Order: sequence, then structure tokens, then C-alpha cells
Amino acid sequence: MEISVAIILIALILFIIAFMIIRTTRMLKPIPFVEKLESIDIDSNKIAEMLSKAIKIKTIASDLEGISFKTFLELHRMLEKSYPLVHQYLEKIVISEATLLYIWKGKNPELKPVLFGAHQDVVPADDQTLEAWTYPPFSGQIADGYIWGRGTLDIKSQMIALLEAIERLLADGFNPQRTIMLGFGQDEEIGGKKGAAKIVSYLKENNIQLAAMMDEGGSIMYNTIPGVSTPTALVGIAEKGHLSLRLHTEGQPGHSSMPGKNMAIGRLSKALARLADNPQPIRMKALKDLYTGLGSTASFGMQFIFANLWFFGPIAKKQVEANPQTNASIRTTTALTMIKGGVKENVLPHTAEAIVNMRLLPGDTIAKVCDRVRKIIDDEQVRFEPVEDGYWEASPVSDIDIPPYKLLDLTIRKVFEDVAVAPYLVLGATDARYYAEISDSVFRFCPFVLGKEDLQRMHGIDERLSVEGLGKMVQFFHELIRVWSVAEF
Ligand SMILES: [Zn+2]
Repeated sequence: MEISVAIILIALILFIIAFMIIRTTRMLKPIPFVEKLESIDIDSNKIAEMLSKAIKIKTIASDLEGISFKTFLELHRMLEKSYPLVHQYLEKIVISEATLLYIWKGKNPELKPVLFGAHQDVVPADDQTLEAWTYPPFSGQIADGYIWGRGTLDIKSQMIALLEAIERLLADGFNPQRTIMLGFGQDEEIGGKKGAAKIVSYLKENNIQLAAMMDEGGSIMYNTIPGVSTPTALVGIAEKGHLSLRLHTEGQPGHSSMPGKNMAIGRLSKALARLADNPQPIRMKALKDLYTGLGSTASFGMQFIFANLWFFGPIAKKQVEANPQTNASIRTTTALTMIKGGVKENVLPHTAEAIVNMRLLPGDTIAKVCDRVRKIIDDEQVRFEPVEDGYWEASPVSDIDIPPYKLLDLTIRKVFEDVAVAPYLVLGATDARYYAEISDSVFRFCPFVLGKEDLQRMHGIDERLSVEGLGKMVQFFHELIRVWSVAEF
């Protein structure tokens, strides 16, 4: 009797293991082979000179009034001079003060246009770090195989590469089937309200829907995804929303020598502690999609786990939560960022307030998250509301089972050798979110290769891009513009 129970048990375990392995092998689908693209003959050094010129022009968004407005106009003049064919054959529309929309009319009006985005503005360089830069942040120095300065990675390089690619296509007599647009905002770094948002309003007023759009976002990364040694092109298919909440409460004011029980700071602190201790629920979807995209380029071990989350869910959850970056990919995050209360060490304040900054996972609406926050705080005396201009919903998630994504995936693999392509969730905010109103297919990708340490350079010290990398960007856009412009989608 006991033996037969043991046999049944062993058979059951073997059956479960076999079932798990079958599920894993389905996740491990190989990346189809593609013939490497024959590169077009381009002069990377000359393109580097162009980017260098653009870097030297200090287009900082935070002061796009008065003097600095002139810097944007200077950049426009530089572009006009450098890209004569673009300015001859494309319609250029200036929106707001300095936002640029270029339209290259296609032959076939039946096909919806596609739009490629980038932004002209850059963040300033912190005065206190200037000494630490190898070359000054607005020098546009070309040295050691790199172009150095603000905007090389974020993201004048994308703007220059797009213009170079179109200038080249025009020189070769290329005529697109569908209309190609370029949208270069002026204020991405401070919210994009006068730039991308206004481009989208303009297109909406003209009843234009886009077949697809591509903006800055992920890039080709080395050694950043657990269990993956192949460089991976991360294509953003969604971005998180944003919700800053102001919490405030009142207490009994008075002299600190005779405190009552109802203290504003105490009450607020309890609410904040509850929020910190009770994170928002997780959804593994973004990571599951990422590993599905990676297929056989991810290790068997990782795919075994992701193919069988029904079993490994709790273990995987622990691992993913331990890393702030992966944690942010699976849940709406809660960050306690500001607190204010009291003016004197011996006075009980009447009020106390705090700011909690949350980044919303697609699917978690502002209303839903506010509801959860109310339940977690569980104290009607602590009131909260979204900070003015400090909230927007997460973007929709673009489908990847459609021709624009598949062609993008293919182009990445054709231009960059031995690269895996996978969709991911962008944790910060980009101009691309505005385009969801006029397109279901919004992708966020910068065609350059980055190591882990390069991420610190964006908005940091020694931002730089290799001359060779810039050349590749031009190759990439030359191909993608060509492919997207003739494909029937
Ligand atoms: Zn940017």
C-alpha cells in the first residue's frame, strides 16, 4: 500500500516537472536569424561634427524665455544650414515658440503617416560638477572616439541622426509611400506641454492619426538583465504614470511643555509609515513579456521560472522586489519625498504636510491608486489630494504583435549584430506619452549601445556618445524610415 502511494507521488512529481519543462521550452524559442544589413557608406566623422555643433548651442528648457529662446533659434538656423535638402523638400512647421514639426509627404495618401520624435532641449549641467567633466558639458568636444556633452545621449543625437538619414534618402532620390514626420519638442525635460503636447494638438486638429510613432526610450544594453548575456535592445512599449499626492493633517497647537494626544506630526508620520510598509500590489506582466521576448537568449533557469510563475511566483516576487529597478517594473511605487511641519522646537504645529510621489503601473489608474491609499492610511483626519500639474495616467501598452513593431525588431537585428530585442516598461516619463492620443503604436527606443555605467552619464557627468555609435544611429534610421515608409500597415 505504502509503496503504491509513493509511486503515485513520484509519478505526479515527474508529471509536474515534465509539464514545467514543456512550458519552458515554449519560452525558449530561438531568435530567428537575419542577414546583416549591408551598411550604407556614411562619414561618421562628418556627422559627429554636426552633433558637436548642436551640442555647443545651449538649448536648456528651464529657461526658454528671454535670452535662451535665442539659442533655440540658433539651433534651427544651424539645422537649416546643415540639412539643405530636408529644408527644401519637407514642410517645416514651428509650433509654440520653438517646437519643430517636419512633414515629408508620401505618395500614397491611403497610408497613415509615421512620426519620429526627439527633443531639442537638454538639462543643465550642475555647476558643482563642472570640474569633474573631462571636457566641458557644452564644448561638443570630439576626442577619444566620442562626442562629449549634454545632449549626446539625451537626445540631440537622435535628432541629428534622423535628419542625416532623411538628407541621405533625399539625396538618393528616395520617395516615401507614406508620409514621414519628425517632431522635435522644446521642453521634454520640463514636461513637454509646449512641445510634444502641442504637436499632438496640431495633428489632432488636422484629423491626423499616426500608424506608428517612435521616440527616445530604451537602448541596447549589456549585462543589465538577470540571466541574459546577449546585448538586448529594450523597446519601450509603455511608460509609467505619475501621481504626486499632498498629505496634510491638523493637530492641537500649543506649547510643547504640555502636549495633548492629537499631534499633527505624529498623525502624519503614522500615515506615511503605513504607506511605506504597505506597497502597492505587484503584477509580473511587464517582466513576463520581457522574458518572452528574450526567448532563448535568456538562461534556461530564468525561463524555467518565468514560464512557471504559477509555481515560482512567491520566490520570483522576492527576488524582483529586492532590486529597486525590477521592483519599479512590477508595481506602482510609493516614494516619500517631502515633509513639512513645525517652526520652532518648543511649539506644537497646527498642521503638517508631506508629498508622496507615486509612479503608476499601466492598469493602475489614479482613481484606483487613490482608493488604495485611502484604505492604507485609514485615517479620515489625514487628507490628501494630487498636487497641481503633478499627475498623469500611465500610458496605454502598445501591441507587439503588429507589423510596425515586427519591422522595428527586424531592423534592430539587421543593423546591430547578435542582439536580442524585447519590449519593456519605461519607468520615467517621455514626450511619447502624448502621442497615445493619436496612435496605438508608440515605441520608445534609442538605437545606441550602452553599458551600465553609461546610464549615470545621462543627466550626469561626462555624457558622451561614440562617433561610431552615432554612425550606426544614422544607418538604423535610414533603414527604418525606408522600411516603415513602404510597408502596408
Ligand atoms: Zn530625453
